Amino acid sequence: MPPELSQKNGLHFYQFPNLSRFAEIKHGVFTRLSGFSKAPFQGLNVSVNVGDDPESIARNHHAILTCLDEDELVFIHQVHGSDIILLKKENTDTPLIHNNQTGEPISKLSKSITPAKVAAQKRAENTGFLFSPELQQQTFEIGSGDAIITDIPGKILVIQTADCQPILLFDPNQKVVAAVHSGWRGSLQNIIGKTIMSMVHHFHCNPEKIIAGIGPSLGPCCSEFVHYRKEIPGSFWKYKKNENHFDFWELSQDQMLETGVKTSNIHISGLCTKCRNDLFFSYRSQKITGRCAGVIGLTCSDRR
Ligand SMILES: [Zn+2]
Repeated sequence: MPPELSQKNGLHFYQFPNLSRFAEIKHGVFTRLSGFSKAPFQGLNVSVNVGDDPESIARNHHAILTCLDEDELVFIHQVHGSDIILLKKENTDTPLIHNNQTGEPISKLSKSITPAKVAAQKRAENTGFLFSPELQQQTFEIGSGDAIITDIPGKILVIQTADCQPILLFDPNQKVVAAVHSGWRGSLQNIIGKTIMSMVHHFHCNPEKIIAGIGPSLGPCCSEFVHYRKEIPGSFWKYKKNENHFDFWELSQDQMLETGVKTSNIHISGLCTKCRNDLFFSYRSQKITGRCAGVIGLTCSDRR
């Protein structure tokens, strides 16, 4: 097991050293170790969309909340696009989804904030399983998008990955956190840069102050794109490391630098999920598999 993994309450997770310095946030990328899911989702799967047993997923969510000593996980429905969800203090009940094509909000979600647990519970009821009170935790899926930004303490943002990059961002001056899902499609759409600019425009963040982590994901060792000439525009070929492998970690770093984030504030975990399929779910390795949780959130002062 890599020495950089942390362990608490039976769960193992990766933490970025540059984000660990801040007591006002909680963060981590949870490994698949421990957890209640059975094969092929073996371990700490958090996704309700891969066919896993709802009770196991609920127990996994609960284990993460217990580990973090927090009450609420906020999920987004990830679609490999570039829409960004803004969860702001002044619109707590109506999170905005920000469309980066037009620059305008595309929807207001007031009543469609759907607790993921309800969906899971409905499925569970069909199988005769009833959730125990301890599993009635606050777990929400608040809309479709591939990044979420918030300035509200207690909202633990979750990015689900199996090879895609979980990117965690924090502006210690403005007290704003963001979580980004950047697979190769998201990388080509610069979801990372767009999220940072959204932090600037909507939360008055300064890129020079932003602390960033690029989590365990498909490394250049395993990012093989046999059909890259069709799938990846030529402007990205400078990230091609040999015949057909790409370094999307370097691309993500460059996308952050372009917005003004400092090199010294970016940490790349360097852990490849396909090489370390024992620790992390990997779609390329297993196809039918679970999703790891990359999480970040502002914590209330009494939870530090
Ligand atoms: Zn690898």
